[in-house]
Amino acid sequence: MLNLILFGPPGAGKGTQADFLIEKFKLNHISTGNLLRRQIASETELGLEAKSYMDKGFLVPDSIVIGMIRTKLLKNKEANGYIFDGFPRTVAQAKALDELLDSLGIPITGMLCLIVEKKELIDRLLYRGITSGRPDDQDVSVIENRIKVYQEKTEPLRDYYMAQNKYHCVEGTGSVEDIAQRLIETISTI
Ligand code: AMP
Repeated sequence: MLNLILFGPPGAGKGTQADFLIEKFKLNHISTGNLLRRQIASETELGLEAKSYMDKGFLVPDSIVIGMIRTKLLKNKEANGYIFDGFPRTVAQAKALDELLDSLGIPITGMLCLIVEKKELIDRLLYRGITSGRPDDQDVSVIENRIKVYQEKTEPLRDYYMAQNKYHCVEGTGSVEDIAQRLIETISTI
């Protein structure tokens, strides 16, 4: 069973590469950003609460996203494997994921990190904002806040997964196919 975590700042290309890897390895995609946006579109109470954080570029509270992941994993017990995209984003989330996967007997194969520099991230997100309709992709100060939150809250996960020998990085610039190829080569070495 292949269980991968895609890691990297907003705009690094996690969603694009997730689509590619899902197709190649027939994995289940778990994107907390997509799950939250679905809740917003359905105007649920959870969605309304999440939106107030997301529109400003802050993280949604751990309890909300961990609960969503738990529900999703318990529903998809028969999956071939998973790609976690945008989760975990805090050390508390990583610990909760480890506990949850342990209880289900599912090991994490590895964390794959995409490296992209800040200026490129901002350009990519603003460009995506033209078509995505996402409010958090359309405002430079919100984008900068998302990158800052990533550096403060999410980057520490590097040490968490390094300590488990599960942290692998590739250069996240170039064509989508080239980046995918780098990821596939990395996965084959794990
Ligand atoms: P994404 O689609 O992964 O870029 O996520 C968009 C926004 O959803 C983030 O800026 C956060 O506000 C929220 N979000 C997504 N995943 C998480 C998570 N694992 N923990 C907390 N907030 C999240």
